[in-house]
Amino acid sequence: MKTIVQKFGGTSVSSKEGRNRVTNKIIEKYDEGYKIVVVVSAMGRKGDPYATDTLINMVNPGKLPGKEMDLLLSCGEIISAVVLASHLCEKGYKVAVLSGAQAGIITDNNFGNAEIIEINPTNVINLLNEDKIVIVAGFQGANKEGEITTLGRGGSDISAVAIASAIKCNYVEIYTDVDGIMTADPNIVPNARVLKRMCYSEVYQLAEDGAKVIHPRAVELAQQYNIPLIIKNTYSDSEGTSIEETNGNFINNRRELFNDKIITAITYMKDRIQVKVNTDDEEKIDKLMNELTLNKISLDLINFFVEQKIFTIDKEDKDKLVTILDQGKFDYEIVENCCKISAIGYKMRGVPGVMARIVKALSKEGIQILQTSDSHNTIWCLIKEPDLDKALKALHSEFKLDE
Ligand code: ADP
Ligand code: MG
Repeated sequence: MKTIVQKFGGTSVSSKEGRNRVTNKIIEKYDEGYKIVVVVSAMGRKGDPYATDTLINMVNPGKLPGKEMDLLLSCGEIISAVVLASHLCEKGYKVAVLSGAQAGIITDNNFGNAEIIEINPTNVINLLNEDKIVIVAGFQGANKEGEITTLGRGGSDISAVAIASAIKCNYVEIYTDVDGIMTADPNIVPNARVLKRMCYSEVYQLAEDGAKVIHPRAVELAQQYNIPLIIKNTYSDSEGTSIEETNGNFINNRRELFNDKIITAITYMKDRIQVKVNTDDEEKIDKLMNELTLNKISLDLINFFVEQKIFTIDKEDKDKLVTILDQGKFDYEIVENCCKISAIGYKMRGVPGVMARIVKALSKEGIQILQTSDSHNTIWCLIKEPDLDKALKALHSEFKLDE
């Protein structure tokens, strides 16, 4: 029996028109003979009545305990799942709606950002065998005590792939509001193109570096369980992006698959802060690093020199960091409003001159590079946030990603 998981994001289920399209996408597959699990996000984005951000704004998140907060947040996806079920019932299809907990998703106790530790798919499998379309509220599970937890931003992608791995389904379709994974965020670079095929690692890097289109953990799980992913648009019939190859095969076949570009895609992460600590005292730095770890402040773009240590952190951690640096009587400097851009591509390994082209393209636009770093498949540059749009467009055209 062929089984698939279809996941629909917030923008797909926010309006009646969207939900009608979603309903049609589900029915199409059901009528082709697939057993279907549907995973949904909360309806819409900030400002929409039951969107996650709207629910957060109804309480004081700083004061409410995480357990209660998660109970509130989990409602968004449940509402969305039931409303969608109602559309399918109207058309005469048999459905069953499950919360994350009812779908057997068991997580750790990390409220607000819980990790799935186990899945018991019995409920889902039984309902599928009754020939029902099973609609699961995404983004949530429950800990071993049965207390409801949520999986963090973009967590419905993780729900979808996790369930898919537990029921051994053929593939997962992730439906969103763009035509697939693109060479850059189409909201900033209008001539970005859809990438028809990608390998897991490339998509993982793109997601990890900020492209919201899929959650990095979902990509990781899909690779681990060897589940093909297809990213598609609810609002069009485009083919989307298919992700199934492991790197080795993919790179060998790439030349035949499509043109042979050094850079596959570029992405960005906003809200970064650059920190420069002036000291050559190893012991003090050792202590500082320990403090940062204890406070769960994660560092990125780390460049240590004898007399200066440079790194970046998320804007949200700024107050904690400043307290730690002041207490340690450090001489330091903070550069706010930074943005990390990433140029990703598996062909860049061992190819000289990629960084030179990036530097040239950015400096031609008068964009200052605050810091850089690189790996075998990615080059990162830290720039000031007001330069972001110009920088992405400049790199997109330098590497001919629109052609
Ligand atoms: P959903 O609600 O469906 O989960 P998201 O907002 O999480 O949707 O993800 C889709 C958005 O990701 C798109 O609207 C697009 O602006 C953004 N995005 C960023 N980078 C990319 C990229 N490289 N390709 C496609 N979309 C991207
Ligand atoms: Mg998302």
